[in-house]
Amino acid sequence: MDYTGRIPAQLEKSRHAKYFKRILHVMPSQMAPYDSNRMMFAYFAISGLDMLNSLDMIDDNDRLAAIEWIYRLQIKNAGIRSGFMASTMLPDNTPDYQCGYLPMAYTGLATLLVLGDDLSRVDKKSLLEGIKACQSDDGCFIAMITGSESDMRFIYCACCVSSMLDDWSGIDKVKAVDYIIKSISYDGAMGQGPGLESHGGSTFCAVASLYLMNELDNALSNDQLDKLKRWCLMRQSDGFQGRPGKPSDTCYSFWIGATLNILGVANLTDPNENREFVLSTQDSRIGGFAKFYDTCSDPLHTYLGLCGLSLLGEPGLQSMNAALNISDRAYNHLKEIHKKWKLE
Ligand SMILES: [Zn+2]
Repeated sequence: MDYTGRIPAQLEKSRHAKYFKRILHVMPSQMAPYDSNRMMFAYFAISGLDMLNSLDMIDDNDRLAAIEWIYRLQIKNAGIRSGFMASTMLPDNTPDYQCGYLPMAYTGLATLLVLGDDLSRVDKKSLLEGIKACQSDDGCFIAMITGSESDMRFIYCACCVSSMLDDWSGIDKVKAVDYIIKSISYDGAMGQGPGLESHGGSTFCAVASLYLMNELDNALSNDQLDKLKRWCLMRQSDGFQGRPGKPSDTCYSFWIGATLNILGVANLTDPNENREFVLSTQDSRIGGFAKFYDTCSDPLHTYLGLCGLSLLGEPGLQSMNAALNISDRAYNHLKEIHKKWKLE
């Protein structure tokens, strides 16, 4: 595609940092329906500032307040209902929601790590009990014990939490791997579950989960790996599309880019075309990235756009751990925590 006249000269780092700072303090009223996903937005904004090397824009008071807020979402000693809930704003008369929600445990722990917390107040035993209860007989996970969807996204969340806690007792790996293998479509990539269409997002979740479980090379044959790599590589036109026949979308520079990174073949893509596409979706005035060049920026595409650029080695951005979707800086902090736990 010809982006002549629309390609910004450079990555507007300080505008994106201000965009995330605004998200942390004020959310536009149109975002009210997303209130129960506040943790997710906090993760995009805080980890986004980290990717931009701009965590110093969060002063110490705000940093400590954010850490306290995340721990207030934790539900401990509640048996299978333990974990991190979606919002502190849930009224007491909605007991169905007073229980752990897997994506919040993942984004909560990731955000705590980015903020420099040592995870010492995470009740690992309770959290693992809550996770274990969410795995179904088919190996997949539901997002919350009171009932929810069940697909590849929640296997990924369970794997991230287990990896961050350095404890895999909450997952039956054999069953989880089996579910992932059954979700491989005829074209070599993965859908959200068995029999479903291959998709960039579910393929990332599946491949990152196998990688985190240390099962990537055991679970897939060389032929399966080759087919999977080919499917991912074929998703590049300029940026990356999520499925065949779809237009390029900023977030797939991360979903597919990270998958190719984990599979060790990111070098077979065209980084310049990809970078040009992502930058064409940048809002150079108010900051942020959009899905397409002619749509409005949002926190998810802003964060994943920056992560996609980080995977390309964009100067001025942190390098990242593709499987956990946090910066290498935060990942190194996690490794130090694991070392400390082993000595305890
Ligand atoms: Zn997208």
